[in-house]
Amino acid sequence: MASRFQGRLREAYNAMSERVLEVMQAEHGVRQSLDHALMQAREWVMTARELTHEEADDLAATLRREVDELSQTLAAAEEEFEDWVETDLLFAEHQAVECMLLAADPTTRDLMRLKEMWAEQMAQLLHAGDAVEAGAYECVGCGEVLHFDGAKNLLPYCPVCGGEVYRRLRSAVM
Ligand SMILES: [Zn+2]
Repeated sequence: MASRFQGRLREAYNAMSERVLEVMQAEHGVRQSLDHALMQAREWVMTARELTHEEADDLAATLRREVDELSQTLAAAEEEFEDWVETDLLFAEHQAVECMLLAADPTTRDLMRLKEMWAEQMAQLLHAGDAVEAGAYECVGCGEVLHFDGAKNLLPYCPVCGGEVYRRLRSAVM
């Protein structure tokens, strides 16, 4: 998926996804459309990350496409969604799922179920300072993976981005 972006573009892509979510969630009661949020995020990321118009367009188009693809793949099959949230999502994929859930029609029962499942999954996030077992933990902010061998470990702030939210990787790739 968005892994085709590297370095500063990948960071900008993540930042833009976050911005889209912020815009969509910002106004209480008034649902912001995904396109509207994308437009705002595109303007913002271009200035904040000093991107060219072409780069910003590329990022916005990619995010739009990812959300569309996710909607098609997941909205149809609840089981598939369950598999998805169990999988180790990349940060960008995670953001795309959030966008998809926010953008989708909130009146359908299937969607509410998906939202519940997603919220359950998100409730399992870990934070810096939490004691954790041996295993691999991925920083939600930047994707950095920390490995622990001992039985008792304290999650530090992310050594790369200073982030404090992690999720456990089920299939640790060493
Ligand atoms: Zn990080």
